[in-house]
Amino acid sequence: MSTRLMVTIIVAILVGVLMEEETVKEKIEVIHIPKMKFSNKKEMMKYLREWQHRLFLDHWIIDAELVDELVDRDGVECWGLNTFEMIGRSSLIKIRKYNPDKDANAVRKYCAEQTLVHELLHCIYNWLLKDSNSHDSMYYDTMDHQQLDKIADALIMAKYDLPFEFFLNKKD
Ligand SMILES: [Zn+2]
Repeated sequence: MSTRLMVTIIVAILVGVLMEEETVKEKIEVIHIPKMKFSNKKEMMKYLREWQHRLFLDHWIIDAELVDELVDRDGVECWGLNTFEMIGRSSLIKIRKYNPDKDANAVRKYCAEQTLVHELLHCIYNWLLKDSNSHDSMYYDTMDHQQLDKIADALIMAKYDLPFEFFLNKKD
């Protein structure tokens, strides 16, 4: 074999290896970013079905809507809401679309996939519903919600190998 041919073969192999590494890197980068905004219902449903399965909720009937405005039972603006029925295992999840006026300067980063996971967790975690505006009732409702949100953060961090700081909305 001529030296020239050998050099050509070695260069070809090296280029092949480097290109493959590049592709792997690209794939990892794509995989390691949570879905920050859902552009449409079809895209949202893809993530919903994935997480529904991961969270062992396959025996639930779950639908979802992307909405412009959203308020919770107390009339407070929120990113997500789940209206569910435990016995029949049906749930309607609403996710509020990204709104730069409200979300660009928020301390916590808007992350549609995290909100979706939080809402799905409501189907699993059946806490005592807030039945009054007593201090105890409001306190337990808020603290239970906080626990649920921590689990949603942890699941997103585990899936994408992210630090908790990811949720801090860094402003330019
Ligand atoms: Zn919630």
